[in-house]
Amino acid sequence: MVPLLDLKQQHTALAAELKAAFARVLESGQFILGREVTDFEQSAATLTHTKHAIGVSSGTDAILLALMALNIGPGDEVLCPSFTFFATAGCVSRIGATPVFVDSDPDSFNLNLADAARRITPKTKAIMPVHLFGQMANMNAVRDLARAHHLYVIEDAAQALGAQFENQPAGSLAHFGTFSFFPTKNLGALGDAGLLVTNNDDLAAKARLLRNHGAEQQYFHKLIGGNFRLDGLQAAFLNVKLPHLASYTARRRHNAAYYNSALQGSGLTLPAEQPNYFHIWNQYTVRVSGNRRDALRQFLTERNIASAIYYPVPLHKQQCFAHVAAGASLPVSEQLARECLSLPIYPELTRDQLKLVVESVSEFAINPLLRVSASMPQKA
Ligand SMILES: *Cc1c(COP(=O)(O)O)cnc(C)c1O
Repeated sequence: MVPLLDLKQQHTALAAELKAAFARVLESGQFILGREVTDFEQSAATLTHTKHAIGVSSGTDAILLALMALNIGPGDEVLCPSFTFFATAGCVSRIGATPVFVDSDPDSFNLNLADAARRITPKTKAIMPVHLFGQMANMNAVRDLARAHHLYVIEDAAQALGAQFENQPAGSLAHFGTFSFFPTKNLGALGDAGLLVTNNDDLAAKARLLRNHGAEQQYFHKLIGGNFRLDGLQAAFLNVKLPHLASYTARRRHNAAYYNSALQGSGLTLPAEQPNYFHIWNQYTVRVSGNRRDALRQFLTERNIASAIYYPVPLHKQQCFAHVAAGASLPVSEQLARECLSLPIYPELTRDQLKLVVESVSEFAINPLLRVSASMPQKA
């Protein structure tokens, strides 16, 4: 059996330390923010080469807080991919601004900057690249575009903690970088948690205020913020797990390299690490053409191999965005939603499990009967 993720195994190896962390927080009585949070913020700032790291309640709240700190709101447009997790665009709508969906590049899965440029209007205030599946967007191109049009940049780095572009860490190349420690991310808390990073002192100060109802001193509110605070307990767990991130990443990279060599010639379009990028493989996502994706998934399920579809419906096709995306044409996002399949890549995969995945995918690829999907005609 090959699950998509095996958190139990990861946490069993750290059980004694995690329990000690729990005991520490219980003893301290500091359940919201506090010492564990500031310790974690320091480690995270070091890891991301940023001046300020601000622990928050989730990756979603990190995005929301970044938008609030940049004063983005009604009447503003924010460029973001359609092929991403919902939160990216959901936050833009929640603060009253309008998400403008941009098509993606079929090979990197990241934002197509030429398409982004075409969608800029006088109302465009910000661009939000998402470092999808663990590989960063081309931040030189993002920043050139942003500079030319005076846009803020927010990196949605929820899937890319530890990734690099030209030796620069994810989150460090924008006004804000946002991260998620949802349990299934490459660094997962034992509940919801997130992080905001920035190199800008003023933006950091504002985000810290907004994180806590805009109050520096309790009951004295300078700004209208919210409760976006990180729990001491989650920070304590993250302090236990963060030192292991580099080894988790190394295992993920090893697994991806194995798949990329063993699945050559399988007929699938394999994901690639681009030159000068450091991919952390939050997901290993292949493309299956010819309407065979669901058949491959079914084939793997029958062999007890889990897989996942990130994402089955691009955001411009979501019911909740019908009012902002009516008639939008984003052919690559739609193609990716049809073709993408993510295979197990988590660090604790054994050699036998990796081999089983490769053998099963290869068996599917060479079996001519399986090439024909149930409903669609198939070209050779
Ligand atoms: C997971 C994720 C988020 C949201 O993070 P949460 O911690 O679940 O709120 C935002 N953007 C992307 C791209 C994500 O993958």
